[in-house]
Amino acid sequence: MLLDGKIVANEKMTKIKSEIDSIKDKFKITPYLHLIQVGNNSASTIYANSKIKRGKKLGIEVELEKFDAIDQQLLVDHIKSLNAKKDVNGIMIESPLPDGMSFYEAVNNITFYKDSDGMTAYNQGNLSMKNEMIAPATARAVIDILEYYKVSGKRVCIINRSSVVGRPLAMLLLNRDYTVTICHSKTADIKKICRENDTVVVAVGSPAFLTMDYVTEQSTVIDVGINYSEEKITGDADFDGIKDFVENITPVPGGVGIVTATDIFENFLNGLKYQIENKK
Ligand code: NAP
Repeated sequence: MLLDGKIVANEKMTKIKSEIDSIKDKFKITPYLHLIQVGNNSASTIYANSKIKRGKKLGIEVELEKFDAIDQQLLVDHIKSLNAKKDVNGIMIESPLPDGMSFYEAVNNITFYKDSDGMTAYNQGNLSMKNEMIAPATARAVIDILEYYKVSGKRVCIINRSSVVGRPLAMLLLNRDYTVTICHSKTADIKKICRENDTVVVAVGSPAFLTMDYVTEQSTVIDVGINYSEEKITGDADFDGIKDFVENITPVPGGVGIVTATDIFENFLNGLKYQIENKK
């Protein structure tokens, strides 16, 4: 079965919009998400613009502030000044930052309830306490797809150990009683480990990495990878090679990516609700 992310994303968009509409109605506010980009990475400009478009659909004002260059400390000071503004409900820093700057150090200064990306240590740590108010959107998106399509099988292997994908996803899965194995570039026998699991989540950033050797007829493949070639975007699975063999697979594009783009706004919404409830 093809696990179509667009259907999952559309359903979530409707739900988020209706909550945003009722908040706007009740509290007479304009929800506002502030994006910061340093440098001119073309992929991050595309991502920022797509957030602006998606925000518009949801009735959320999203603005991009661009710096050609900025000193790390000045960026941190700027983030702190945005934290203090009541009318700024979410803050995101587009990745990557230019060489010599620390993304982690910058992001970690965002107040936790304005951290729409879910990348602060506080929000990441909360996941291990089963508090999922704000979680990295890609990890949330994988869960959304598994839950929407009621994918069976509680053993999941993740090929990725980054703080964007593998680690937060492992926490969200554990919170739902999955048994999780994390693999990475130093793991031996990855193919065998993948075949022993019900679901394989692949996020290595290498086109056609996941071949028939990694899967069985019962496998569900969740392809997180995004690889740009001149003609198209592909994932990390050899999609054409395995799609008719495995039980379930997500396409790229139209799989995890589009749900991730929506789940950023679930984080934003949850943060906004926290701000309202706690008069922040
Ligand atoms: P990353 O930090 O570079 O992580 C890549 C992971 O893959 C690392 O854990 C690495 O292992 C592992 N890896 C690399 N080569 C491997 C190999 N040959 N065998 C086993 N493991 C291997 O990248 P990331 O930020 O997590 O992103 C990963 C991919 O997901 C990229 O393609 C990115 O574009 C995509 N992505 C997609 C979305 C979405 O919304 N769909 C969101 C975020 C990221 P080590 O730790 O040992 O180096």
